[in-house]
Amino acid sequence: PASKLPKVTTTIFTEMSQLATEHGAINLSQGFPDFEAPLALLDRVTYYLENGFNQYAPMTGVAGLRNAIAMKVAKLYGAEVDPESEITVTSGATEALFAAIGAVVCAGDEVIVFDPAYDSYEPAIELNGGKAVHLTLRQPDFSIDWLQVAQAISPKTRMIILNSPHNPTGAVLSEGDLDQLEMLVKGTNILLLSDEVYEHICFKGPHQSVLRRPALAKRAFVVSSFGKTYHTTGWKVGYCIAPNVLSVEFRKLHQYLTFCTVHPIQLALTDFINDYPEHYLELPTFYRQKRDLFCELMKTSRFSCIPSEGTYFQLMDYSEIAPEMDDLTFARWLTTEIGVAAIPVSVFYESAPEQRLVRFCFAKDDETLKQAAEKLCKI
Ligand code: PMP
Ligand code: GLN
Repeated sequence: PASKLPKVTTTIFTEMSQLATEHGAINLSQGFPDFEAPLALLDRVTYYLENGFNQYAPMTGVAGLRNAIAMKVAKLYGAEVDPESEITVTSGATEALFAAIGAVVCAGDEVIVFDPAYDSYEPAIELNGGKAVHLTLRQPDFSIDWLQVAQAISPKTRMIILNSPHNPTGAVLSEGDLDQLEMLVKGTNILLLSDEVYEHICFKGPHQSVLRRPALAKRAFVVSSFGKTYHTTGWKVGYCIAPNVLSVEFRKLHQYLTFCTVHPIQLALTDFINDYPEHYLELPTFYRQKRDLFCELMKTSRFSCIPSEGTYFQLMDYSEIAPEMDDLTFARWLTTEIGVAAIPVSVFYESAPEQRLVRFCFAKDDETLKQAAEKLCKI
């Protein structure tokens, strides 16, 4: 039978992580920490696993966790969100993105995405009969060209997908960006999907969540992930905040995609967030130190650092090392011959510009970063 997703192959994250394992390379490709989650959090998981909390969670998520999320966004973004009807806990941000797109995108709808774009958006758009309209982030700072967005909007535009802090570039939206967005969508039916999974890893000023702006929040699905915040990407627990009318549609998909999300972990997260509400406030400093260490160590290499203002990713330009080599070939070579795995950036574009960029994940122990940099500095 004809493939419903002819352009899709195995994701670059699987490919590069597998290659890293096969060749015993230091894996700075797929984004995940190589250090543990807080012990107090792990202890709570053990408690719930051993004390009879291993059956279905409520479909929309554990009430205490939804309350904790509502309190957090009220405190950080001044957003008033009803935990009962406007927050849904999902199996990772991935499920939330898929459900949000599936809930509202219909055949023939256009969805604006900014390249380089995280790889899960477009397949979800296409499966629902929509069309991704790719706009390219402006170099050198990977900012949004709002004039270009204005020109790309058509009567078919159903949704704009935003991602800040941005994977893979580390760019972040500014207040000015939110101003522009507000002006553009005013008086339209355009919905927003705001992927804010790195909301707590922002190095440049406070994170500009769309939840800060009532005019944006009223038309937005805002998606986040506990995997990034609590160093637990393998747990796959995330959430979606959306106004009641959108959450109703969102939950119709969520209840048939997964029905509910892993119960003991939701309970453990609830306790941890309540007991250590300041944990995520320490993340910017924690990750800034790692970013700075990695960039400092790489100073004697022939790579050049593209400033990263958020996420746990660092782009590096390798044009001095292999100007003629495309980034996929370079990333594979780096993994198999040098022993450090990275992600090529061109895979996140519909049509990649002539550039020589790879992405390194610095969510690693300092020792791992030192060992990786030592290898990379020898090239
Ligand atoms: N969006 C972006 C931008 C991401 O980087 C990730 C994590 N790789 C996700 C969504 C998915 O998050 P989760 O692992 O919680 O499904
Ligand atoms: N979001 C992670 C990254 O960008 C990978 C997630 C995945 O493997 N699907 O590296």
